[in-house]
Formats: sequence, structure tokens, C-alpha cells
Amino acid sequence: MTDAQLSPLRAEVREFLRAEIDSGAFTPDVDSWMTGFDPTFSRRLGERGWLGMTMPTDYGGRGRTPVERFVVTEEMLAHGAPVAAHWIADRQMAPGILSNGTEQQRRRYIPGISAGTVYFAIGMSEPDAGSDLAGVRTRATDNGDSWTISGTKVWTTGAHIAHAMVLLARTDGTPDDRQQGLSQFVVDLPHPDIEIRPIRSIDGQAHFNEVVFHDAVVDSSALLGRRGHGWQQVMSELAFERSGPERYLSTLPLLRAWSDHLREHGATPNQRVTLGRLTAQAWALRQMSRQVARELSDGGKPDVFAAMVKDLGSTFEGDLVTAIRDASGIVPRREGGTHLERLLAQSVLHTPAFTLRGGTNEILRGIVARGLGIR
Ligand SMILES: Cc1cc2nc3c(=O)[nH]c(=O)nc-3n(C[C@H](O)[C@H](O)[C@H](O)COP(=O)(O)OP(=O)(O)OC[C@H]3O[C@@H](n4cnc5c(N)ncnc54)[C@H](O)[C@@H]3O)c2cc1C
Repeated sequence: MTDAQLSPLRAEVREFLRAEIDSGAFTPDVDSWMTGFDPTFSRRLGERGWLGMTMPTDYGGRGRTPVERFVVTEEMLAHGAPVAAHWIADRQMAPGILSNGTEQQRRRYIPGISAGTVYFAIGMSEPDAGSDLAGVRTRATDNGDSWTISGTKVWTTGAHIAHAMVLLARTDGTPDDRQQGLSQFVVDLPHPDIEIRPIRSIDGQAHFNEVVFHDAVVDSSALLGRRGHGWQQVMSELAFERSGPERYLSTLPLLRAWSDHLREHGATPNQRVTLGRLTAQAWALRQMSRQVARELSDGGKPDVFAAMVKDLGSTFEGDLVTAIRDASGIVPRREGGTHLERLLAQSVLHTPAFTLRGGTNEILRGIVARGLGIR
């Protein structure tokens, strides 16, 4: 689809977001896809048809293209809208369940995700298996008509508010078998034998968790996709996780707020140069990120390109914070102060996570190098 064909959708989303901001429904924030939890807002997006956009209408989706979904997500992030509640479910769990799930799983979860009322967590990382994901030790034991799960997941974003988790666990073999013998499950939450302990981040908030499975029993129907094919399924899910505009737009609301501030108060030559440089970088990343969305739209598998965009994009969203802090002389303030001072404080505190979440940049560079045939 061309920009002209997409512009009515973009205009509609912008108009909605401006009205929401003007009415005080939300205040633009940085990293809002990670921390802006607002079930009412999520439900309203569902009602407008802006969730489950690429899901078939049979499952409550909207049957639209990844490029149209890109327009909506891009506007949400650029306006710092509170999209965290539904983000993971809409971004990667709905496509994962559509590709690998049974008919029963599709009908059970996708309509709620599309309505903005069902949220998901990702249960991949473990205390000793982050970058080395194939080393997961969480075990699911087959009881015939059920599975017993034991082990610990960590950094599980939103597990405390999620209705379900997509879990990666070992069903066969030993940790030495690495990628072989891993399977995925959809585990409903809360569960009496699954303990969810909050982990506080540097800003004092608790958005992610340690999740302990104390021999938790789930029905056999919780298996997602094929037993032993968890690794392949997770890899295609990660393409959705890594390719989106959230990988370079987390701090764009700060750039916009600073640009508004300069327009109102005037800018020094150095500040103009910084603003121009950051805007040009954001624009280049946008073109790259849109290309990933286009390739997904055409049925491609742009894994290497997505890894490259995430590496460059997540570096940029942190560099932007340092550049604005240096050029503006604004002192970050967590409480009180102006909106811009608060955005800067939030940005500073969130920056360490940008290049870790979704796979660290060192790991992504390895993927890019291998994809380019570099040994
Ligand atoms: C905000 C946030 C939210 C998250 N949410 C989730 C979630 O919802 N679900 C989930 O499952 N996980 C989540 N994670 C976990 C995230 O995926 C891991 O932190 C990440 O994969 C790195 O794993 P690790 O923390 O174990 O670090 P490690 O793997 O121990 O890495 C430590 C350092 O060593 C480097 N390193 C490791 N191996 C190599 C190598 N082979 N070559 C070069 N350098 C290497 C890494 O780049 C890193 O700098 C989240 C993380 C953050 C920060």
C-alpha cells in the first residue's frame, strides 16, 4: 500500500490520539509500550479495530495488512500512548497462536486479544538462560492427559497482569540436547502453583517478574504447536518481537516534547544541529522499520534485517536521551518539575533496558553477521 492509501488511517489514528491527550485520558510518556498499562485504553483500541489487525475476521481480527498495523503502532508510540497491557499479546502471541495453535486455542485467545481484553506474557528467559536461550531448564513432564511444569522464568514482563503466558519448556531430552526437545505451551494465569514475584527496576516500578512453576499441572491441550518444535516456533515469534517500530520509538515522545520546547523558547545553533541530527536518524530508522513491515506483509521472513533494525534502533533510542540531556541542559526530575523534565528522568532510568530486552545487541549482531555469511 502506498503512503497516500495509508494516510486516511493515519489521520484517523492521530485525530483519536490528539483528542485523548486533550481530554486528559493519558499524558504522553516514554517507553509506554512497556510501562503504560491502561486496560480501558486497550479495550477502546479493540473497539476501534486497531488490535488484532492482521488476524482473520473469523477469529475476531480485522483482516488488514502488517503495513496498516505498522501505521497504528507507529502513531501509538510516537504519541506515547498507554499500550502496554495488550502489547505483547497483539504483537506476537496472536500471530504465534494463529500459526501454531489448535482451532480451540485460536478461538479461545485471538478474539480476546483483538478486543484488547486478553493480555499475555512471554516465558522464555531463565536465570541461566537469557542470550543462551537453548539452555532453558524449565521442564514439562507428560502425564498423558496433562503436563506438570517445574522451573523458574525471569524478567517476565507483565506476568502479574497477564491472562496467559506462552512458555518455552523442555519436554524431551536433557539441556545438553539444546534446541532439540523444547516445546511451547499456553499457560493460563493466575494458577495456584505458579508463583509470580515482582522484580523492581531502577525507577522503583515493577513491570517484570520472576515466575516459579511449583509442579504446576496444566491440561494436555495447553501444548502450543508440535511437541519438540518449540525452538523453531520461538524463532519465528522473535521476528515479530524484534521487527516493530517500538525498537526505535521508545523515547520519541521526549524528542517531540523537546522540539516543542525549543519552538516555544528558541534554540541555540548547537541545539538546532542536535535536533536535526536526531530527526534525520529517526527518519532513516523509520524507513528501515517500514521495510521490515512491508517484507512481512509480502510473506517474507526478514529476520536478519529485523535484527539489524533492532540493533540500530535500540542504540538510537538511548543515544537520543544522552544527546538531549547534553544539548538542553535540562535537569531530569522524577517528581514535580515540567513534563519535559519528567520525560527526561523516565528516559534516563529506562535506557539501560533498551539494548537488552528482546535479545541483546551483541546477540543481534551475531545474527546479522551470520545472515550476511560472515564467519
Ligand atoms: C525490560 C526487559 C524486559 C524483558 N522482558 C522479558 C520477557 O517478557 N520475557 C522473557 O522471556 N525475557 C524478557 N527479558 C529478558 C531478556 O530477553 C534478556 O535479558 C536478554 O535476552 C539477555 O539475557 P540475560 O539477561 O540472561 O543476559 P546474559 O545472556 O547473561 O548476557 C549478559 C551479557 O553478555 C553478553 N553476551 C552473552 N552471550 C554472548 C555471546 N555469545 N556473544 C557476545 N556477547 C554475549 C550479552 O550481550 C550481555 O551483554 C526482558 C529484559 C528486559 C531488560
